Amino acid sequence: MSRTSPLSPSGINVSFEFFPPKSEKMEENLWRSIERLAPLGPRFVSVTYGAGGSTRERTHSTIERILKETSLTPAAHLTCVDASREDVDAVVRQYWETGVRHFVALRGDSQAGVGGEYVARPDGYRNAVELVAGLKAFADFEISVSAYPEKHPESPDFATDIDLLKRKVDNGATRAITQFFFDNDVYERFVERVRKAGIYIPIVPGIAPIHDFTKIARFSSACGTKIPSWLAERFDGLENDEQTRSHVAAAVCAEQVLDLTSRGISDFHFYTMNRADLVYSICHILGLRAGTAGGETAEGKAEAA
Ligand code: FAD
Repeated sequence: MSRTSPLSPSGINVSFEFFPPKSEKMEENLWRSIERLAPLGPRFVSVTYGAGGSTRERTHSTIERILKETSLTPAAHLTCVDASREDVDAVVRQYWETGVRHFVALRGDSQAGVGGEYVARPDGYRNAVELVAGLKAFADFEISVSAYPEKHPESPDFATDIDLLKRKVDNGATRAITQFFFDNDVYERFVERVRKAGIYIPIVPGIAPIHDFTKIARFSSACGTKIPSWLAERFDGLENDEQTRSHVAAAVCAEQVLDLTSRGISDFHFYTMNRADLVYSICHILGLRAGTAGGETAEGKAEAA
């Protein structure tokens, strides 16, 4: 079966992001999620790369398993952190030999964690602009990069951020995936700025379903995403009420994506956190149905044979 998903009948295209599991139990959980989401026919599924390349092997083995056991198209996240160009190129070669043709190319965060000052290695790729060029010099990979509707926390201003995005595109990136956000006006204003700067690649909204409001609020403050007061109010008082929390989370996320579709957006990238439940419901609301857009797992393949 082809690894290219056709357009879904609803006209909506989704991609799913997973992180590489740390334990057997987490691995089972990840695969349950992949099997649940695969029949929705995502355009691609991406696997993150831990801080400083800490998940190098686990990211690779997860991608390898996706290639072997499903018909999904994997995209490998890759960062420049604490690695020489030679190190990064060796990882790229390994992916090439495995059959990977799509990267999410990133600079990555400081080893000190999000917010710590980033120090590039003198013998490494200094940022995603250089990494994209390095990947393109190796092969004609499909390359997705990051974009920040609320500005990257290290950026002095939007102009610097957008200039960097332009350089990534000039070097060969063909899709940007945004940091997650909750205010669609902010996203729309960002896309307007990007277009004014002469950048015409898709700026795919990164959507984070809220499984745990406290955690997402903490992460948001580190990465510069604002939590609107209406959103905090929706989760207020639900700390010990998991069931209501998950209903509210589904409603909030559905509201966000449906509003984006009403603004003409048709592609969405979901930060799944390796959980299928909420994402599956949201995709259903968006009109995606299992088996209609090309996704298929090994189980599906075996059944069909
Ligand atoms: P870049 O696009 O290279 O630059 C980010 C910012 O750094 C710029 O906006 C600018 O403020 C500053 N900057 C860099 N170079 C210059 C320069 N020459 N002059 C001026 N300013 C400069 N992190 C991981 O560790 N693993 C992952 O798998 C991962 N996946 C991600 C996926 C998505 C879709 C997104 C949005 C982020 C992801 N991140 C991941 C987080 C990302 O690594 C961090 O946000 C990191 O701080 C920046 O990486 P970048 O590729 O966006 O950097």
